[in-house]
Amino acid sequence: MSQQFGAFTASELYCPHCRRSQPVREKLLLILPNGELHEYLCSACATSLGKRTVTGAALTTPTKSPPRAQSSRRWLR
Ligand SMILES: [Zn+2]
Repeated sequence: MSQQFGAFTASELYCPHCRRSQPVREKLLLILPNGELHEYLCSACATSLGKRTVTGAALTTPTKSPPRAQSSRRWLR
């Protein structure tokens, strides 16, 4: 069975939970005055992989960098 996703804008994002790139599901979070706020969820574990504001016809590709949920960086002075 071939899977076809019509309005797929972001195909895959890195999922820190799965530790690999996963197909994402796009979920509409909010309707904004100037666009829509979409959230990308891992199709395997439903972890939130990022959000994106879609404004009108300006459909830009989302950044590939995953959100930094936990930073292991320490502040050394
Ligand atoms: Zn995942």
